[in-house]
Amino acid sequence: MHTENITGRIKQAAIDIGFSSVKITDAVPLSEEIERYQQWLELGFHGTMSYLERNLEKRENLSQVLPEACSVIVVTQNYYTPHNHELQRYLPDQFGKISRYAWGDDYHDIMKSKLLELSRISDLLTPGSTSKVYTDTGPIMEKAWAVRAGIGWQGKHSNIISRTHGSWFFIGVIITTAQLLTDEPIVDYCGTCTACIDACPTSAIVEPYVVDATKCLSYWTIETKPEVEIPLEIAKSMDGWIFGCDTCQDVCPWNSFKIDTSEKRFEPREEETCLEFQAIEAFTQDNFSSRFKNSPIKRTKLAGLQRNVIAVNSPKLNP
Ligand code: SF4
Ligand code: SF4
Repeated sequence: MHTENITGRIKQAAIDIGFSSVKITDAVPLSEEIERYQQWLELGFHGTMSYLERNLEKRENLSQVLPEACSVIVVTQNYYTPHNHELQRYLPDQFGKISRYAWGDDYHDIMKSKLLELSRISDLLTPGSTSKVYTDTGPIMEKAWAVRAGIGWQGKHSNIISRTHGSWFFIGVIITTAQLLTDEPIVDYCGTCTACIDACPTSAIVEPYVVDATKCLSYWTIETKPEVEIPLEIAKSMDGWIFGCDTCQDVCPWNSFKIDTSEKRFEPREEETCLEFQAIEAFTQDNFSSRFKNSPIKRTKLAGLQRNVIAVNSPKLNP
């Protein structure tokens, strides 16, 4: 079959499987991107996430992951659902906000099974080829590949923005040894906008396109170990967030599209977009484990979630 037809069939399969968009790029080294990434590491903006320092060769060069890697299929999965943080808005002393991506089931599992389905189709359409799939599951720079493939551009808040879906989506990649037709990158449409930089409660976007994770609420509420106390200057700016933070994406004009996801597993569990402080304080380990089974929230562990509740309320005790 002609490469054009094969590429078209793979892209159609991606949409049929339920992905929101699909683009393809060549698996050439990410030389410029890795240089910027190293500068970011040297500035210490990754904080205690030391795993980000490892496997730089794999991050730059996909042949270190899959010998003879030739093409990268990049897919997105929209997770927007038409809900908000109303309980926290009206009862801020009782409820904390959960980041939108964590309202439903864990995207790693959902994305991975869909990616494996698509990679199988890709392998069958390109006999002799092999492939590997990633979705935040290894040392692969998914955002950089999404930009290269033309999924969107990297916004000043560092998330990828699509002209049709905004930034409420997960990214998955399939690295394949097959030669496929590629797409072109698109230009940056942030223009003169600085809404995300202006809205960030902790000034974590230290310059356009550069986020200092050690100031970011997502880092403090999800990535730090439960025994690490959240500094008071960060706690004072938590604005009710107890797991992640969506502020920079909420204010982005490209997120005004609000296209509902077709993936029901991203709907809020028990219609909860906020969690009650009292309930979190009363959780036993068994309650927590069963309540957040297959949920991204389990990443922070019970002690981490309880630490976040203490932090979000601490400014009231230390005005
Ligand atoms: S997630 Fe929140 S704290 Fe982090 S950069 Fe965006 S607005 Fe700032
Ligand atoms: S809020 Fe404005 S500057 Fe920030 S990512 Fe969106 S368009 Fe770009």
